[in-house]
Amino acid sequence: MEKMGSLLPTELKGNVTEFKKELLRNSKIQTFLNQHSSQISDDIIHRSMSRLNEYAEQNHDCSCTSISECTNLIKGFQPTLVLENGMISVHYKPCEKEIIAEYNRKVQSLVQAFHIPKEIRNASFAHLEKKEDGRNPAILKAAAFCGSYNGHQFTRGLYLHGSFGVGKTYLLGAIANELASKGVPSCIVHWADFLRELKGSFEDNTTNKKVEALKTVPVLMIDDIGSESVTGWVRDDVLGSILQFRMHENLSTFFTSNFNLNELENHFAQTQNGSVESVKAKRIMERIKYLSEAVNVAGKNRRE
Ligand code: ADP
Ligand code: MG
Repeated sequence: MEKMGSLLPTELKGNVTEFKKELLRNSKIQTFLNQHSSQISDDIIHRSMSRLNEYAEQNHDCSCTSISECTNLIKGFQPTLVLENGMISVHYKPCEKEIIAEYNRKVQSLVQAFHIPKEIRNASFAHLEKKEDGRNPAILKAAAFCGSYNGHQFTRGLYLHGSFGVGKTYLLGAIANELASKGVPSCIVHWADFLRELKGSFEDNTTNKKVEALKTVPVLMIDDIGSESVTGWVRDDVLGSILQFRMHENLSTFFTSNFNLNELENHFAQTQNGSVESVKAKRIMERIKYLSEAVNVAGKNRRE
């Protein structure tokens, strides 16, 4: 880091020679001038003094631990000197921290999450505790999915079932972020909350758009299926049409649930109006089984 201190052009009226000398003592400016000595005259230096000062006033070697600490003119960007049109100019290039932050912003924008807590959105495989035996098969299968997913062939998702608080949703978050680091967009949606939102959006006519988004996203993760109240509309028109589309288009789909597959089938068979609709429940289950492999997630309740 190299700074020119408190020298500002306005304070230096009448003392231009001193100001220029001070600027030329800056080792980075010296290096630049030496590299372009055949093209840079004294007149060019004289006319470029405010630009040289702008350069000298800022950090050139980033030593910040985060972008928020950056005091440069443009946060996260470092100045470089360039010679253009007979003048010395200052250009800005992103520092390492900005490149990492930009990468993280891109990755985050690939993961859409509806009604999903922040801690899940920040989940990563690196933070998963592999010591926990109960969950290990699920972690291994999740990692295998991320390794083999290529967006061209159908890669079967997982149906992660197990009791409350064992880390099923967290694992979805880790998969979503891992896929995002490979440039794969995904969407995690808390199913019951999504349906509530959908019911509330009849009036603003966004239902089709929301359902369409879940049909077409490359990797869909339906969180907590089975926690919703079943109606024919929820089961057949919303879930059924999303799963039908995804089967047809070979799009990877994940589920988490407190129910195993048999329990989920029973759940789908009992509708809110009391009727038993076994055939319709079976039809939905066939789609879920085609799209995902059931894996039990065991372990302690982390919420306790
Ligand atoms: P489930 O979906 O099975 O009910 P969650 O995924 O919501 O459980 O996990 C319960 C809590 O434990 C959450 O607060 C979550 O962030 C945390 N958690 C889960 N797995 C891990 C992990 N491997 N490392 C750290 N925290 C975890
Ligand atoms: Mg959950």
